[in-house]
Amino acid sequence: MCQKITEFAFENLGDAYKRFFKGLADYPNFKKRSKSQGSFTINSGGKAITVGGTRVKLPTIGWVRTYEGLPHTSTTKFTISERAGNWYISFTFEQELPLPSAKIPAVRVDLGIKVLATLSTAVVFENPLARDKMKKKLAKQSRQLSKKNRGSKRYLKQKLRVAKTHKRTSDIRLDATHKATTTISKNHAHIVIESLNVKGMMSNHKLAAAVGDANFYEFRRQLSYKSKKFGSEIIFAHPFYPSSKTCSSCGHIQDMPLSMRRFDCQSCKTSLDRDSNASKNLEKLGL
Ligand SMILES: [Zn+2]
Repeated sequence: MCQKITEFAFENLGDAYKRFFKGLADYPNFKKRSKSQGSFTINSGGKAITVGGTRVKLPTIGWVRTYEGLPHTSTTKFTISERAGNWYISFTFEQELPLPSAKIPAVRVDLGIKVLATLSTAVVFENPLARDKMKKKLAKQSRQLSKKNRGSKRYLKQKLRVAKTHKRTSDIRLDATHKATTTISKNHAHIVIESLNVKGMMSNHKLAAAVGDANFYEFRRQLSYKSKKFGSEIIFAHPFYPSSKTCSSCGHIQDMPLSMRRFDCQSCKTSLDRDSNASKNLEKLGL
């Protein structure tokens, strides 16, 4: 039997990688390593390796944790790569897609700052950073840093603290975003999201910090690749498309205050639950 499970790139990097991964086995995410960019592949020599959850046992390397939950499946080949200080693991597998009928037909996703996202189904994903707790901590730590002598031991120590808080903040944000985008793309057939011009918003100073915090771009990116993964369709709609105010049967537009739970069309007399009417409109957008 062939016991050889490593490929050239990995073998060449040898023990350094082994130590590197071992030391990080308890970390939720792969740490930055400035040298050695690129990727390498690990083969199991045809033997199926079970994958699933947030841990995976790689041949020769051992257990590593992943940031995002992996699908429960098996594979024979992994590719490990590094981009901008982040490590990625990739592999191919076969997956049965959830039946379209098991999904909610359509949903509109509104991204926010105070909350991460609000769905047209009234589901809300909270923004764990909204209370500014981390921001205050960071400001305090940065103030303390500025009082220390540059280059001194205390300065370097404080600098590390600031860096750790930065890292923690982005971890919290990324984690919440992953949870939300997975739930959304897994459970809805058509996902409608505003096609905001984030670049334009970023050039506006005051908005920039808030937008950066709310992480709109990352949310859309994740939603795009995850909807592919779960066999859903993502639709980028005009931000002001009035899905709640439009009659799904005749297209008539009328005012719909939030308190109004039924859409009673003043034109064709259709009467529908507010959310079902909005859903139907969004579904049409997807078709
Ligand atoms: Zn109507």
